[in-house]
Amino acid sequence: MPSHIVCLTFDFDAISGFIARGQTSPSWISRGEFGPKSGAPRLTALFKKYGIRTTWFTPGHTIETFPAACEKVLEAGHEIAHHGWTHRPPTSLTRDEEEEELVRGNESILKLTGCKARGYRSPTWDLTPHSVGLFLKHGFVYDSSLMGDDYLPYHARQGDAIELMKPAVFGKETAIVEMPIHWSTDDSPHFEFVRTETTVRQGLMNANAVVENWINDYLYMRQATDWGVITYTCHPFIIGRGHRMMMLEKLIRACMDNGAVFMAMEEAVAEFQARSVTGDP
Ligand SMILES: [Zn+2]
Repeated sequence: MPSHIVCLTFDFDAISGFIARGQTSPSWISRGEFGPKSGAPRLTALFKKYGIRTTWFTPGHTIETFPAACEKVLEAGHEIAHHGWTHRPPTSLTRDEEEEELVRGNESILKLTGCKARGYRSPTWDLTPHSVGLFLKHGFVYDSSLMGDDYLPYHARQGDAIELMKPAVFGKETAIVEMPIHWSTDDSPHFEFVRTETTVRQGLMNANAVVENWINDYLYMRQATDWGVITYTCHPFIIGRGHRMMMLEKLIRACMDNGAVFMAMEEAVAEFQARSVTGDP
């Protein structure tokens, strides 16, 4: 059984994240366009070189706007998972709007792949108290939006009661498998320079410094666990630039040299479920 698994995951936002924030000028749009146009083909070529299967959380908006680019990712053998239809954070939506996003996103995925998504990742990683119930209702197997662990998948809870003046009361675990993520292993905060009227996010980190952290996160998993999954999150329009592509290849090589098995997230979920049955992890 594979013991240390790496999931490379891509949030294929393209232009949808900018649109959701009202950034619709030609320059913002071109920034997102770089993803399907240049980033995605570079990434699929890299994974072909190493025989790696990855997961692409793809908004319905990207599927409907860039169908050929999405088709190529699918043809290259990668998993297509759910990332909303628009890229609006669920916490900005009503329960009904959140459900509409799930349904409409699944319609786009069904049209592209022939089946509904098994996995979901929330735009901006912010679930609502309704989310897990909606995942169960709409047949999802896993979610990848929470940070309650780093190397071990777990079962997402439903019905937490969180109030300011009271101790938290946690709800029951559900069948939804949570594949935890973290901002420290996401390319966006490290690299994406964002300037708006009110904020500046510097980003633009030295990729060699970032990859040193990312490799150490993998090596620590080997040191600290008998079995685990580490998930890295990237965006084709961010990671697809030259020095960052070189960083990603460096990460792949370092993990491979140290015994990593690369899997699409749905495969890592199946591995976790198999181990749960045998009581192994
Ligand atoms: Zn996204």
